[in-house]
Amino acid sequence: MTSLDDAMNIKEDIIQWRRALHRIPETGLILPKTAAYVKAQLDEMGIPYETFEGHSGILAMIGDPARGKTIALRADMDALEIQEETGVTFASENDKMHACGHDAHTATLLGAAKLLKRRDADLKGCVKLIFQPAEEGPGGAAPMVRDGVLENPKVDAIFAMHVYNLENAKIPGMIGLRHGTMFASDDQLYLKITGKGGHGSAPHETVDPIVISAQVILALQNIISREVKPSSPAVLTIASLNAGRGTTNIISDSAEMLGTIRTLSFETRAFVLQRIEEIVAAVTKGFRADYELRFFDSYPPVINDRDVTNIFLESARKVISEDDIIMLGDSLMGGEDAAFFFEKVPGTYFLLNTVMPIDGIVYPIHNSKFMLDDSVLYKGAAVLVQAAMDAM
Ligand SMILES: [Zn+2]
Ligand SMILES: [Zn+2]
Repeated sequence: MTSLDDAMNIKEDIIQWRRALHRIPETGLILPKTAAYVKAQLDEMGIPYETFEGHSGILAMIGDPARGKTIALRADMDALEIQEETGVTFASENDKMHACGHDAHTATLLGAAKLLKRRDADLKGCVKLIFQPAEEGPGGAAPMVRDGVLENPKVDAIFAMHVYNLENAKIPGMIGLRHGTMFASDDQLYLKITGKGGHGSAPHETVDPIVISAQVILALQNIISREVKPSSPAVLTIASLNAGRGTTNIISDSAEMLGTIRTLSFETRAFVLQRIEEIVAAVTKGFRADYELRFFDSYPPVINDRDVTNIFLESARKVISEDDIIMLGDSLMGGEDAAFFFEKVPGTYFLLNTVMPIDGIVYPIHNSKFMLDDSVLYKGAAVLVQAAMDAM
């Protein structure tokens, strides 16, 4: 029996798991109900697992590392602070929502677990199933890496999947991927510029943080337009600027801003972050102001490894037809904290098209009406199982 036939037989299980998880969305690092649900399914399948201090991540293991390589399959389990408006029968029972489809990722990985457990005796190595919390923030992958989930036995390759409304794929069940960067790096910026407040009629007695902020913001855009190689995409957005006291005649003491930086390579990322610091330092010094600059919630880019991705493509072709595999032209500028796993272990991240219109309209992820077609998740499970077995 092929992985796809195998997976088709548990299609309804995966749908049922996904819908059960969809009702109980939880956010952040601690996901008590979600983790309890996953553990209950693993218990029923007879799969041993490990849990950790400080977060709800779960590491399950199938097979034996003594027989060969160790392959990791990763799913995120967390939801978003969004009130669901889909009107489906299995809608969220609280004020959060699985609007990024992580319920589907968790259910798909449970499906893969069930299929792999059945083949336990024939596995030529070991599979680690990583169920992680807090992908949407503050990040659950980095703590799990620190907890050693990629060690003992050391993971040789990793695979991960995200449901998606794939642009050129009209049919649910198609997959999309690319060699190289799948997801951009994602760094958040906090910048405070401190000048000297005073009367609006006497600017010479002050150091005006608003005028200096304007100079800084424009100068920073020169990094993108004049300093980064045009063939290496980068985005720098200052999304918030807070200054002043809501009056017309008081020059404030300081201004604060928040922004985000996206790049597609480790090199460009390091360059942009370094130039931000240098430009902020130079412009504020030039205008006699001080600054405080911090980068936080930083995710590296997710880069698909060439060799592992070639193996993955062979595996995918065994499970779904060549026509249903789309090689993507562009990377996604969104961040994905699976990057902390991919930074340590070569892997392939792919997208599963699960487009599902509501009243004729396709809503994107992170929308309160986002819905996905869970009848094709078994295909994702089949691809994960095949890739894990072939990569061993
Ligand atoms: Zn998301
Ligand atoms: Zn997501």
